[in-house]
Amino acid sequence: MQIKLKFLGAAQNVTGSRHMLEANGVRVLIDCGLYQERQFRDRNWEPFPIKPKSIDAVLLTHAHLDHCGLLPKLVREGFRGKIYCTDATAEIARIILLDSAHLQEEDAEHKRRRHEKQGRKGPYPEVPLYTTQDAEACFPHFKTVKYQQTIEINNTVKATFCDAGHVLGSSMIKVDVKHNSQQRSVLFSGDIGRPDRPIVRDPNIPENVDYVVIESTYGDREHKPTGDVKDDIADVVNSTKKAGGNIVVPSFALERAQEILYYINELLLENAIPHLKIFLDSPMASRITKVFEQHPELYDEEMTEFIKQHQSPFKLPNLKMAGTSDESKAINHIKESIMIIAGSGMCTGGRIKYHLVNNITRPESSIMFVGYQAIGTLGRIIVDGAKEVRILGEQYPVKAKIVQIHGFSAHADRNELHKWLSKFKTSPKKIFIVHGESDSAKAFGEYLKGKTNWQVSVPQYQDEVILD
Ligand SMILES: [Zn+2]
Repeated sequence: MQIKLKFLGAAQNVTGSRHMLEANGVRVLIDCGLYQERQFRDRNWEPFPIKPKSIDAVLLTHAHLDHCGLLPKLVREGFRGKIYCTDATAEIARIILLDSAHLQEEDAEHKRRRHEKQGRKGPYPEVPLYTTQDAEACFPHFKTVKYQQTIEINNTVKATFCDAGHVLGSSMIKVDVKHNSQQRSVLFSGDIGRPDRPIVRDPNIPENVDYVVIESTYGDREHKPTGDVKDDIADVVNSTKKAGGNIVVPSFALERAQEILYYINELLLENAIPHLKIFLDSPMASRITKVFEQHPELYDEEMTEFIKQHQSPFKLPNLKMAGTSDESKAINHIKESIMIIAGSGMCTGGRIKYHLVNNITRPESSIMFVGYQAIGTLGRIIVDGAKEVRILGEQYPVKAKIVQIHGFSAHADRNELHKWLSKFKTSPKKIFIVHGESDSAKAFGEYLKGKTNWQVSVPQYQDEVILD
């Protein structure tokens, strides 16, 4: 038995998830994500560390860009196999990859103009990392699978997808390898959700796992005890409505926007908030919400029950999905109190910036943050209490109420990750910790060593191990 694992991304960092498993003459890539952390972004431009043509299949855990965002480049550079994932993942990945290609094209054009003006050249050519055409060329490679369905890469290497409970369609993937009379299995956790989240199910507990490659985004901490998320949202809506301002919600397009709508719907049914107009001002979030509506088979029990008793939480009577930029601009002329949900989630781009410009100087308005704000982003600067911020080239005093609602994370924390591993019927032979900043991954390793007698390793970029 010889299985080779090579860690090609998200090794002591969070983005660029990419792992290769090689066994019995077959090469499988698990995820092919984009590097988003500034210090690692150059890796997006480097040639693939292994020849794309030599890879037989890609197994995709979910549609977040840091897991699927380099697929167009992989295909352009010669990958010819299938990209296996759930149907919801395929549908959402299409939306996300087209958006990403569009941003890459815009970025390249901005860079070209900037360099021209400054009369200099950057280290890489001023071309998009990949184009819309490249993104479209990778879609025919998608081959959808169902949860618990086993697919054969060849007759000795098989993969089974199960629900990771992270975002709609997200999977953990178990790869089984047979060699003579021996059998080994390697589980790739992808991103692991938390128990009791709205809409998606709790993470699955797979059986007969020998090796685990596990994420550790929150491997060094526990989530803050969350008050009741719904109560917190209701407080913001009610007080802002009373003051006569708007509630501006910077939100990620996948999962977070749909969770907000879910909570708002429940609050309306409970008469805990007034019927105010809600704008989902993100074409990407609107398209992804449609994918959610088309996949009721993926909902958890509460959501299924909710729909039986009421209707889809995504069909609020006062919900408007803004499409064109004119529709988006028209929102600012509405005089009554409204809620505006827009991207990007950390205020680094997108329509949220215009809504911030129109509301951040109004003491009667609220900016309600519902997601993680990375250091250096406009969202983080606002959350950290800046008195003045620069948005779209202008300075604005921060007068609006700034609220951060905790309890929305889609990643299991240290304790929840350990609990999840502890539910496995048999102890794994070894755990490889990935997809966490170096400190977080190492701290999670120490934490596991303190709690168990498992073998634990925190691989580095391009490390290679042989599993027996
Ligand atoms: Zn994710």
